[in-house]
Amino acid sequence: MPDSREASIERKALSGGRLTQAEVAFLLTDADLHWLGGLAHEIRTKLHGDSTYVVANRHINYTNICQNRCLFCSFSADATDDDAYFFQPDEIVQSLKAEGAEDVREFHIVGAIPPRELAEYAYFRGILAALRAAFPEAQLKAFTAVEIAWIAQLAGKSVRETLADLKSAGLDAMPGGGAEVFAEEVRSRICPDKISGDEWLSVHRTAHELGIPTNATMLYGHVETPNQKAEHLLKLYDLQEETGGFQAFIPLAYHPVGNRLGGEFTTGVEDLRHVAASRVALHNFPHIKAYWVEYGLKLAQVMLFWGADDADGTVGRELIYHAAGAGAPKGVTIGELAGIIRGAGLKPIMRDALYRDMREYEPVGEDAQEV
Ligand code: SF4
Repeated sequence: MPDSREASIERKALSGGRLTQAEVAFLLTDADLHWLGGLAHEIRTKLHGDSTYVVANRHINYTNICQNRCLFCSFSADATDDDAYFFQPDEIVQSLKAEGAEDVREFHIVGAIPPRELAEYAYFRGILAALRAAFPEAQLKAFTAVEIAWIAQLAGKSVRETLADLKSAGLDAMPGGGAEVFAEEVRSRICPDKISGDEWLSVHRTAHELGIPTNATMLYGHVETPNQKAEHLLKLYDLQEETGGFQAFIPLAYHPVGNRLGGEFTTGVEDLRHVAASRVALHNFPHIKAYWVEYGLKLAQVMLFWGADDADGTVGRELIYHAAGAGAPKGVTIGELAGIIRGAGLKPIMRDALYRDMREYEPVGEDAQEV
């Protein structure tokens, strides 16, 4: 029998009630792992049955040149570094055409904060316009709140005006990066030059008001405390209650290689706990992702029974987690992703960036691989 704290959490999570910060912190620390996983799976199943979502997508990291240089980041570079790069919109399109990206349904476009002398507003708008023209069937999920805040500064416009203009150029949705952990004590230690947590939330609120759906993330496993993570999740819960504009939450496990923060990799058990706790605390979010790039395909498969209903996508050429030590492949086929879902006894559902146009995956030729 669950004790009274667990019974209270179950009651709220299954009937649409807001958990307290202490309850969410309990999920993240001391809650029995099997009980937590069972509750997370119950919520996932209530929302989606055995449907598990995948998308044919490509990551586009247009530049790694960044003036913020967050301590936890292994991807960014200074303009003078040997590994610094900066792709123009036509280079991005040519490269995608060369690799045959015509079947892609979602471009996930995330870069850095290049200094003013390298990029002006027209550059960012140009990326969207070029991709929209070259791949009219694909949706553009572009620019974290951190990038949007910077792009607005470059444009000399408000965030609202900037988002409206980017939407007219092709912006369909926004990714959830840059959230890290909202607490100022954490941000001042790991990303002191990044926008505040409140600013991150404000950009997403504005996007939702303009009809631009977004995702949300939380980077865990560095200097944060359970209470700070609980507060972070509840701020997301509250904004979702207000706007309903979030599509998916993606827990992001900190990777310690190649940056100035250092530290340890998270364990598989910690990862399972964070996915399951997210599903329970954010029961008003439609989707929780098991982002296989950070966890590897096999742990991501297990997470489909710990609250996750979305295995993300084929990705193509992931750079950010791999710079930080990820051991997963840089990309997979849709058949491989569908294979881990079917291998778990679940049903792979192909989606687009807006979770529309959904249909069950049917293997075609050599795409029908299983792992
Ligand atoms: S996390 Fe983003 S803003 Fe921070 S250094 Fe890396 S690319 Fe720049």
